Amino acid sequence: MEKNIPLIRVSEFIMSCTSWKKLPEPTLPEYAVIGRSNVGKSSLINSLCNRRSLAKVSGTPGKTQCINIFQIENLWYLVDLPGYGYAKVSQTKRLEFKKFALEYLRNRPNLMLTFILIDSRLDPLPIDIDFVNNLGNSRIPLALVFTKADKNGINKSREKVKLFHQKLLETWDELPPTFLTSAKSGYGKDELLSFITETNQLFRPTSLIL
Ligand code: GDP
Repeated sequence: MEKNIPLIRVSEFIMSCTSWKKLPEPTLPEYAVIGRSNVGKSSLINSLCNRRSLAKVSGTPGKTQCINIFQIENLWYLVDLPGYGYAKVSQTKRLEFKKFALEYLRNRPNLMLTFILIDSRLDPLPIDIDFVNNLGNSRIPLALVFTKADKNGINKSREKVKLFHQKLLETWDELPPTFLTSAKSGYGKDELLSFITETNQLFRPTSLIL
């Protein structure tokens, strides 16, 4: 039997804000996307949603310091968090961002998962490992999404995923769900969307019943 691959036909930008408190009511399951600036976050969002410029592909990394929220198929929210760790952003700005992103991640009741994006061309970077560990220690559910798999090819990219996993296993007992993707070729997109569709089934808006 043919596998039912989800395809996003309707995606809509809802709003941009600087505090999670201004986000829409948490009535739909929500997924956050975060990663180092230039990791390919906007490209991945556009590729998943089959849109050319739903999220902007920026030539100036580290510029956007807002939370952008998109509604997908009227079924779930996708939240684009600002990139972390870009060298040209000042230390103060970086700390501000960290606080602001962590506040969102810790408090948003409908957050199902945080996708941490990692460049599949690189050896594990301390900044990415630290971020994963930070969220893990705060019990924020996460998945890893390796990007730009087309650049060095699937096999080499898989090697980098393995190295990253090995690094995590120094402190973790279990590895988070992991995806290898390319916004350019669409590699890994079906798998990621199927995973979101499955996870959506787990959404129980009980925290809304007061
Ligand atoms: P962001 O800062 O994380 O949102 O990153 P962008 O989506 O703006 O991408 C940064 C750069 O990487 C841009 O020049 C993109 O065209 C390029 N890029 C992003 N994803 C891919 C990919 O899957 N394959 C290739 N070859 N290039 C990519």
